[in-house]
Amino acid sequence: MKKKYYQKLSFQEKKILKEKGTERPFSGKYNDFFSGGLFLCRACQSPLYESSSKFDSGCGWPSFDDEIDGAIVRYNDFSAGRTRVEICCANCDGHLGHVFHGEKFTLKDTRHCVNSLSIQFKSYKNLQKAFFGSTCFWNLQKIFNAVEGIYMSTAGYMDRDKIVYNYKEESEINNRRKKVVEIFFDPKIVSYNKLVNTFLENHDFDNFNKNLDKLIIFYFSEEQKKIAKKVLLKKFNDNIVVDLIVASNFFRAEEKHQNYLKK
Ligand SMILES: [Zn+2]
Repeated sequence: MKKKYYQKLSFQEKKILKEKGTERPFSGKYNDFFSGGLFLCRACQSPLYESSSKFDSGCGWPSFDDEIDGAIVRYNDFSAGRTRVEICCANCDGHLGHVFHGEKFTLKDTRHCVNSLSIQFKSYKNLQKAFFGSTCFWNLQKIFNAVEGIYMSTAGYMDRDKIVYNYKEESEINNRRKKVVEIFFDPKIVSYNKLVNTFLENHDFDNFNKNLDKLIIFYFSEEQKKIAKKVLLKKFNDNIVVDLIVASNFFRAEEKHQNYLKK
């Protein structure tokens, strides 16, 4: 674990994240805590778990049955005289706890046993959603994941017909639904204006083909619409090549497409 990640931690947090300690059971603030939001790494702020994966196992530590894609790394741990699987933050390598299988707590049959001191809760109430569409969501995800204040991006599709598609069909019915990334961001850290600009800056408009290079901003609120419109008018005057459409149903893409370029 690099110094920049642990130097701001408290003595107790460092004991867990850096020195792989364990807090006393039933002592952590997130053991009996079930609000809606994201659980971030205490050291580097990377999103690790969604609240939908949290469950009460009765073990005395926060328990999750799934991780955010790519957020966790696993190591064999022989330290307690038996083989366990240690889990760490994939970004900073901070120690989180251990993962167990075969206990049948939930359908996923997985229990990430995590120290409260390793994580930090971010309520959905403090986050906003944004959607951006392009011909390729792999690159969009990579671009937005590098922006500070963005806590989660998901590759998927936007469609009004309420039909669940798969990736293969997407290539065949290209104009019916759009490849989109869904983003959760903290407006106190990064503005929607900045997100729209980031989206536009990462496209080459000198060699832009409006029929092939489909770019869409799916606004989620009237406020987003107003901001996006202003940015588009400023950049393109009356020759706007980016569509501005109200967001509809978002469908998560297949697992292999999530964080594809990182993988
Ligand atoms: Zn981390």
